[in-house]
This record gives sequence, structure tokens and C-alpha cells, in this order.
Amino acid sequence: MVVTIIGAGLAGCEAALQCARRGVRVRLYEMRPVKMTPAHQTGDVAELVCSNSLKSEEPTNAHGLLKAELKILGSVLLECAERARVPGGKALVVDRKIFSREVARELQNLGVELIREEITRIPEGVTIIATGPLTSEGMTQSLINIFGDRRLYFYDAIAPIVAADSLDMQKIFTASRYGKGDDYLNCPLSEEEYDRFVQELAAAEVYPAHEFEQIQFFEGCLPVEELARRDRLALAFGPMKPVGLVDPRTGRMPFAVVQLRPENRAGTMYNLVGFQTRLRRPEQERVFRMIPGLERAEFLRYGSIHRNTFLNSPEILLPTLQTRIRRDLFIAGQLAGVEGYVESIGTGLVAGINAVRLVKEKAPLTVPEMTMLGALLKYITTPNPHFQPMNANFGLLPVGNIRAVTARRRHLMAVRALEALEGIRAEFAQDKI
Ligand SMILES: Cc1cc2nc3c(=O)[nH]c(=O)nc-3n(C[C@H](O)[C@H](O)[C@H](O)COP(=O)(O)OP(=O)(O)OC[C@H]3O[C@@H](n4cnc5c(N)ncnc54)[C@H](O)[C@@H]3O)c2cc1C
Repeated sequence: MVVTIIGAGLAGCEAALQCARRGVRVRLYEMRPVKMTPAHQTGDVAELVCSNSLKSEEPTNAHGLLKAELKILGSVLLECAERARVPGGKALVVDRKIFSREVARELQNLGVELIREEITRIPEGVTIIATGPLTSEGMTQSLINIFGDRRLYFYDAIAPIVAADSLDMQKIFTASRYGKGDDYLNCPLSEEEYDRFVQELAAAEVYPAHEFEQIQFFEGCLPVEELARRDRLALAFGPMKPVGLVDPRTGRMPFAVVQLRPENRAGTMYNLVGFQTRLRRPEQERVFRMIPGLERAEFLRYGSIHRNTFLNSPEILLPTLQTRIRRDLFIAGQLAGVEGYVESIGTGLVAGINAVRLVKEKAPLTVPEMTMLGALLKYITTPNPHFQPMNANFGLLPVGNIRAVTARRRHLMAVRALEALEGIRAEFAQDKI
């Protein structure tokens, strides 16, 4: 039996190589260079579209831990990255040309059939769709036909997420508007604090939009800096409106409020409600740390607004990356709602291994949620009315009985993750399927 994979990007190539290493025939379709995306520059497989860094290698860094896990699970793309490595301090930085060449060589050596063609209809049989954030229009239409247009999104308008244990709870109060529950954390601002914040926000440096990302913003979804530039009170009447909120310490409604909504059930991550932004990352740290209670906030995910095609995975996918409606159809990469190179490689690895298991009539595997990869897969497949794509971060991992503070906690979580992975390593090993 043949596994069909659409998209020879990071996820698609990793998936193809996992299948091929296990002796399963693969037909891998890539539309470039016949049809280019607005961001890719070449016809190379596994092209890194922007930075040539696969980020930190320290296991106490979320990306470092994810890479350590993927190495244990036998990621072929990380082996290629090692061979393409250039000096980069504590990060895995690669020569992008050599990296693509190494991936192409692996595909060829393992007999993967690479076909340069745009696929616009989802094929029958075991299939992995990994067409990425810039999925072609034809495939987008096919995805809409099968999942419906309310389950496919075209750009991220993402607000930052901060770590719960980095918040100053002396300054923050818990309440929902008009006393309807206590789900939200509220950072109250006086008029003076508000004015200073708005001034800095309006003047802060933003990332320039790529030409293909000239997004017509909906009025209800404007970047916060755009609101700050429009009018002094635009934020106070918008995402920072205080109505229905009383600060128990003063007994009064604050002048303005930044609301933080829990991002996961464990309450380890909080989202700054309505704070989608194009601010540069250092500017997000500088300006958002002016908000009372966020002075020492640790940013687990930065805000951003960019073109990104992704599915509403909590409604569509299982943690095995199979779709709920068709168990022989898998989604991998950024289309599945993860963000980033290594995250995409990780989902490709899982989809590839599970596609092989399906072909060999074995039950698909799930990755333990104690690991960074398992936690990420759990996040993107758990019901969430505010679902937005997610990158690897320590806020995703269950705290369990780890009571240590930040740096030590990360170390313990990393040790626990790698131990959990050792337990399932044999199941994932290529000769065991
Ligand atoms: C402009 C830009 C900059 C980015 N910068 C970074 C960064 O610096 N760091 C980072 O970690 N992440 C970055 N990302 C996110 C990055 O794209 C992803 O992390 C990663 O490349 C996603 O892997 P993927 O396999 O899902 O998609 P891709 O690597 O994009 O692969 C998808 C492939 O599918 C092909 N394809 C699309 N439609 C079809 C079709 N219908 N038929 C056949 N082939 C098709 C595409 O040509 C492409 O080769 C950036 C994204 C963009 C758009």
C-alpha cells in the first residue's frame, strides 16, 4: 500500500521519511517550483522560509526539550539539520541550502517518489496533508469542502500568552464582568498608568507586513497598537474597557483593565484578551510589562498577526493526528495548528509513524502528555472555543507534583518528559512496527 503525502515542507518530508524508513511506499507531492507560494524562494524540499535557526538546544528551553524528544523518537530532519549545522551558540542553526540538500538526498536514498504537482483534491487511501501556512487555493477549497468554512482560518491574530507563575497577584484581581464567575484575571490601570501605556504602545516598533500579508483587519480584531494610535480612549472603550469589573481592594471600577483569560485547564498559561499585535517581540516585553501585575511576565507565546492557513484542530483532529471524520486522513505541520519549524517536524513525525501503523493494521500511537510533543498535540486537539495556533512552551506541560519555582521546575519537567519518552521509545522504534 502507498501513503500519499501532500506538501514537501518540514512536516511532509519528516512524515515521508518516517514511512520510507519503515519500508512503506510513499508518493510525496510538492507544487513548487511549478507553482510557488508567496514566501518560498526556491523549489527545494523542506525550505526554511525565514530564519535559519531551529532555536535553542538547551533542554530547559521548550524548543530544546522538543528537539531532544524528537531526536529520541528518530527525527530524520533533525539528523539532516545536524549535518547542515553552522555555528550558532546554544541554538541549532543550519545552512538552509545544505539542509534542503540533505533532506532531498534522504528522500532519494529511501526511494520516496517526489512528484512536482499541485494537489487540489484530497485523495482516497492513507493520506497526510501537510501543505503548510501558505496552502494553495485549490487545496484550501478542498479542505473547506470536507471540513466546512468555519473550521479553516486564513490568518493568525494572536494575543500574547504569559506564564501564570510570573504574574504579580498582589496587583491583579480575579473576576468576570458583572460578577458572572471568576474566570478572568484583571490588571487594573489608573488613568495615569493608562495614558503612559497608550503613549508607549502607539509609538512602539512593529514588524513590517510582507506584501502578501497586507491583511484587511476586521474592526473587531484590530491590533492593539492600531487602536492606541487612533484615539486616546479607543482602548479604554475596547479591549481595556473596565465596565462590570470592581477592584475589591478599592471597591471601585478601575479606569481601564487588561483581562487575562486562562489558556488551559491547569491554569498555567494566560492570554491577554484582545491584545493581538504586530509589535516586535522585545517591544511586546517592554510595553506589556508596563501593565500592573505583568512587570515580570514571562512570555510563553508572543502576539502576532500574519497569514496562516490552519484548521480548527480541536474539532477536527485526534491526538494521533488522524481526522475524526476519516481515520486514514492525517493533518500535519502548521495546517494542524502548531507554530514553528520544530513543532511542524514533530507533527510530521507522529503523522508518518501513525500512517505506517494504519497501513500495517496496528493501533495508532499517542505521545504522553508529560512530553513537550505530547502536550502540544494534546493542546491542539482539546476543545477550545478560542483556539489559535500554538508553539512549544513549558506552560503546556502538566505541573503534577512538581512544586519548584521556574528554572528548577523546567529542569524537573524536562527530566520527567525525557523519562516518559524512554518508556514509549520502543513502540516508536522503526523496527517495531
Ligand atoms: C513568511 C513566513 C516566515 C516564517 N518564519 C518562521 C521562522 O522564522 N521560524 C519558524 O519556526 N517558523 C517560521 N514560519 C512558520 C513556518 O512556515 C513553519 O513553521 C513551517 O515551515 C511549517 O512547516 P509545514 O510543513 O507545515 O509547511 P511548509 O514548510 O510551508 O511546507 C508546506 C509545503 O506544501 C506545499 N504546498 C502547498 N499547497 C500545496 C498543494 N496544494 N499541493 C502540493 N504542495 C503544496 C508548499 O509549497 C510547501 O512546500 C514562517 C512562516 C512564514 C509564512
